[in-house]
Amino acid sequence: MADDQYLQPYKLATRDLDDMVLRLHQLVANDPQSALLVRRIEHAKNLKVMEVSRTLELARSGDREGSLELMRTGEGKRYMDALREDLGVLLGNWRQVRRAAVQDVDRRVILGAGALAFIAVLVCCLLIYTLFIQRRAFARVHAYTALLNRQASKDVLTGLPNRRHLLAALEALTVDADTDTRRVAMLYLDIDGFKAVNHTLGHKAGDAILRALARALREATRPQDVLTRIGGDEFVLLSVDYIDDAQLRELAARLGESVRMVGKHEFSGRFPLGVSIGIATYPDTVESIDGLLDAADAAMYEAKRAGRSSYAFANTEGQQKVLRLHR
Ligand code: GH3
Ligand code: MG
Repeated sequence: MADDQYLQPYKLATRDLDDMVLRLHQLVANDPQSALLVRRIEHAKNLKVMEVSRTLELARSGDREGSLELMRTGEGKRYMDALREDLGVLLGNWRQVRRAAVQDVDRRVILGAGALAFIAVLVCCLLIYTLFIQRRAFARVHAYTALLNRQASKDVLTGLPNRRHLLAALEALTVDADTDTRRVAMLYLDIDGFKAVNHTLGHKAGDAILRALARALREATRPQDVLTRIGGDEFVLLSVDYIDDAQLRELAARLGESVRMVGKHEFSGRFPLGVSIGIATYPDTVESIDGLLDAADAAMYEAKRAGRSSYAFANTEGQQKVLRLHR
């Protein structure tokens, strides 16, 4: 019994070996090549265990020489060599498989990262493109709106600003009235004897005269003056640049002369044109910018009534002093 004691590690090792071989079988169950190697390892292990067992048996039975003889044959070493070789191949295979798996994972990670980067770039491009399209659409809408606004404020026949534009300009002056102390002057012009052109030569000829009048009036005024055609043969000039009445009288005379020259040059002077002008100024004679148009219109009417080719200033008492323009 005491003799058997030293064999305990051997017996435990043999059991461990069986367990290990069993686990190896389970590990390689799905890999036929490795399973074959494990079977060969098991076979070599069995032969080695049997060889060790025979050696021990001989030693225990007292045949010490026989046991040594068996060891000297090198049979056990051959089994161990075969076992080691197969184990080495098995481990080599596993390392290879693991390396391939790692490489595969690396490749997948790189591919995944590449795909993500591509998608990110694509999304960025799409965003930039969408922004570009959106900005272009906004710019077009903006330009179109501006064009519509310009057209809506323009008199189609003469190209001058129209009544809408005049009202907007008055509105702007009203907003600034508290801080802007400049004198605002309005000249309301109605052509004298214009209807005769229409009646004699037709509306086309009348249109041509209106265009010529618009050009002439524009030339007679400063670029900063707002010259509008508010309808028919009526033009209105709005300005903040005429400080006193003397300047306005000069301006009225210049405008009258321009109209006269149009009549003289168009259609061989068949239609002697004149103009009646009503002049209103804020804040000295008209209390509010809002009241300028009515006051200037009334003054123009007074000039008409007084015999045409005249201009009249609106004044605080509502009476207009009419002055003749050069005929
Ligand atoms: P008055 O001296 O009293 O101002 O008379 P007038 O002959 O100048 O005629 P009035 O100002 O009373 O009328 C203007 C005319 O202009 C009336 C209308 O038939 C004509 N008219 C209005 N708009 C246009 C237009 O766009 N083209 C043409 N050709 N005629 C127009
Ligand atoms: Mg007229």
